[in-house]
Amino acid sequence: MMNHHDSWLEQAAGNPASDPRHEPSPPRRQRNASYQLATRCARAGSGPREAGRNASVQPAIHQSAIFDLGAPEDAEAIFSGARKGYAYSRFGNPTVDALARSLADLEGGHGAVVTSSGNAAVLCAVTAALQGRQGPLVTHPDIYGGSFELLRILADVYRVPVEFVDPADEDQWFRALERAGAVLVETPSNPLLRLIDLAAIVQHAKVGGAEVIVDNTVATPFNQRPFQFGADWVVHSTTKYLNGHGDLIGGGVIRREPFTASHRSIHKNLGGTVNAFDAWLVMRGLRTFTLRMEAHNRSGEIVARWLEQRPEISRVYHPSLDSHPQRELFGRQMSHGGGLLSFELRGGEPAAIRFLSRMQLIVHAVSLGGPETLATMPARSSHRGMAPDARQRAGVRDGLVRLSVGLEHVDDILADLDHALRAET
Ligand SMILES: *Cc1c(COP(=O)(O)O)cnc(C)c1O
Repeated sequence: MMNHHDSWLEQAAGNPASDPRHEPSPPRRQRNASYQLATRCARAGSGPREAGRNASVQPAIHQSAIFDLGAPEDAEAIFSGARKGYAYSRFGNPTVDALARSLADLEGGHGAVVTSSGNAAVLCAVTAALQGRQGPLVTHPDIYGGSFELLRILADVYRVPVEFVDPADEDQWFRALERAGAVLVETPSNPLLRLIDLAAIVQHAKVGGAEVIVDNTVATPFNQRPFQFGADWVVHSTTKYLNGHGDLIGGGVIRREPFTASHRSIHKNLGGTVNAFDAWLVMRGLRTFTLRMEAHNRSGEIVARWLEQRPEISRVYHPSLDSHPQRELFGRQMSHGGGLLSFELRGGEPAAIRFLSRMQLIVHAVSLGGPETLATMPARSSHRGMAPDARQRAGVRDGLVRLSVGLEHVDDILADLDHALRAET
């Protein structure tokens, strides 16, 4: 059962016995750690080359629920953790572990676990970070709608203390961070691309010892590295840019420091594990991750600037724009603005409805980070559950359109935007 992937993985996070004297991030444990990000992505999931092994270049898909435990002494070594091995795919699977190693490497963390969705990743990280803590989970009201709903369920059903605080009110925000049990933030926010200062969060969360979880789905590790600002956990919906092909739902949790046995127990027993094939697909997506991000960043900026010049549009939200109110923070925290943006039509909701119905190339669909340019009306989709006045106060106007700029040629995207915006037919 042990193959070269297993031995490669043995050095990766997940084996608490492997490095008790570990230094903080980034760990020096892998032979490929000196390669550039693009190289590591191009080889995502592949082990190091081994002379004479005649190995498959792509990782194997271990589509099996169970593994042969061998002799009783082998089983004992596996169950006791004395030796890396597999028993049951909810506990661990070689293909899924290969993806976990890639995710940890991308973010510069010590280890990672893979989950069946971004929501499962948030649940796993929040549970692990709150474990043994008294204070509340502090977060902000404009986190992803699915995370908001999840936290509402945790609060209502499981009585988890959850506090939603607006980071714009700095006094209240910093005070809440100082007495938090754990902190969950998302920057840039969705759909208004508001940034939150990660270094400041970490500094205030440290006062009471709360661990900081950053949802890095929208920014991606190409544009923002939360561990460099002292964050403890990063969560992803791999559904978005990491897989990048719009063909699966998945997630991941990465930790700057090693996972403890109890963190792993939370992951395995909450049950949001993923199958080998989906993990394999995410690794295939990762091989083109840096190329895709270069294109998303480039086209995102071009489209944002172009939209700002249009008379039909009153406001464009994208971190790369000079008009973004947090330019200074953008420069400090992010390398590029990404492919997600939103804009407000002067004609309000009727103009937004007209725009969506006139698009020919751009697809009217939720989600982001795939090859296709997608548009939605947040007031009618992600934020439709909010009371209209609360939605207005949150800045999500009825005429707001969100765009996930895809990988089509940017001239074709601009031509479709032009057509959909034009007053005359
Ligand atoms: C999509 C998304 C999630 C949830 O991910 P799923 O894969 O849909 O469960 C969480 N956070 C952010 C920022 C997202 O965009």
